[in-house]
Amino acid sequence: MPTDRLNPWEMARAQFDAAADRIELDPNVRPFLRCPRRELTVSLPVRFDDGRIEAFTGYRVQHNFALGPTKGGIRYHPDVTLDEVRALAMWMTWKCSVMGLPYGGAKGGIICDPKKMSLGEVERLTRRYASEVFAIIGRDIDIPAPDVNTDAQTMAWIMDTYSMTIGYSVPGIVTGKPIELGGSYGRNEATSRGALIAVQRLLSKTKDKLEGKRIAIQGYGNAGWNAAWLFEKAGARIVAVSDSQGGAYNKKGLNPQDVHRFKEKSGTIKGYPEGEAVTNAELLEVDCDILIPAALEEQITKRNAPRIKARIVAEAANGPTTPDADKILFGKGVTVIPDIVCNAGGVTVSYFEWVQSLQGYFWEEDEVNQKLQRVMDRAMDEVLALTQKEKCDLRTAAYIKAISRVARATQLRGLFP
Ligand code: NAD
Repeated sequence: MPTDRLNPWEMARAQFDAAADRIELDPNVRPFLRCPRRELTVSLPVRFDDGRIEAFTGYRVQHNFALGPTKGGIRYHPDVTLDEVRALAMWMTWKCSVMGLPYGGAKGGIICDPKKMSLGEVERLTRRYASEVFAIIGRDIDIPAPDVNTDAQTMAWIMDTYSMTIGYSVPGIVTGKPIELGGSYGRNEATSRGALIAVQRLLSKTKDKLEGKRIAIQGYGNAGWNAAWLFEKAGARIVAVSDSQGGAYNKKGLNPQDVHRFKEKSGTIKGYPEGEAVTNAELLEVDCDILIPAALEEQITKRNAPRIKARIVAEAANGPTTPDADKILFGKGVTVIPDIVCNAGGVTVSYFEWVQSLQGYFWEEDEVNQKLQRVMDRAMDEVLALTQKEKCDLRTAAYIKAISRVARATQLRGLFP
């Protein structure tokens, strides 16, 4: 990781401050929105298969409750820090707000490398984490979901641990869970489908089309791989993809399913034979029309932003572009669809899943996708309209809308006691 990496929490606060200054946010509300409402750090002793015990550190940060229970994923990664989790929690607050969802933002993380652990070890780590954060999560309190290196199985373990502790099954405690346990159709690819809808909506404003557009995608997990096949199915050409170890570029186009099979077999895209090898840094700069960062934060910085060739950056990842890079891209005429809108399909369908779990009544996949389309289109239209009114970029407009809604809710609720 580069040593000049910004602290993500400073980055999130800088983004907040810029928008708060612009709307002259009430100074009585500002400090409240700038700080996480609640943070929990837990120590997680785990017995390994060989008998030794190791203690891991985990976090759950709940940034803001003004709009409702908090919502946000759980990340397993060696580089997780409390400040990263704080930033991700704050971004969740703005994301839920800009999308019109009845949630505040939260996030969780464990400092670990699940790739070096057995399935049983990851299960014991997950169950211990769920047990340690039990006191502050709940279907009406804080509802976790998957993020980097966690998936539907992780959510099943959390749902089971929570349910066993409380004494009855509580499917609404998590989203992104398996269909068999009350998960929603369409949740798995919702983040990427939302990004596709956002890009199509943007293009439609200039009577442009996705067909034939060249796409480069950084990251080939849930967000990246689903984006690859969905964008290809919608008529685009996937020219470059990568994962944490490296990637492949082919200007004639890559076959997403074939890349996926190769990654399943060998564990990485690196070495994929149907394209030229590219590093992650090179991937961001390849000749393409749309760049989709779908990995981690701070990938597009002031160093590489001047060399980015894409005309649209669709942020499937959270926080992939630094504020300095944002200015450079805006100056070059590159449109950045900000994370809090672009990848909000995930939390939107999580909300649909939660509603279905609470009702015990489940929808067909078509219904889920149609509702997602409506919510995404409306959010994009509102944010695009605000860019015209405010003469600003999409991120600033999205922040203005998001912060204004949370600020209004805070004022209406008043100060307790
Ligand atoms: P994932 O664990 O399924 O996949 C992450 C991918 O990124 C893997 O392919 C990994 O190899 C790759 N990666 C890691 N570091 C990399 C690097 N430096 N360069 C290139 N690739 C790298 O995780 P995910 O759920 O797809 O999450 C990816 C991003 O999308 C994160 O920023 C996450 O917060 C965001 N996101 C995910 C969801 C969701 O529903 N899963 C929703 C909203 C946002």
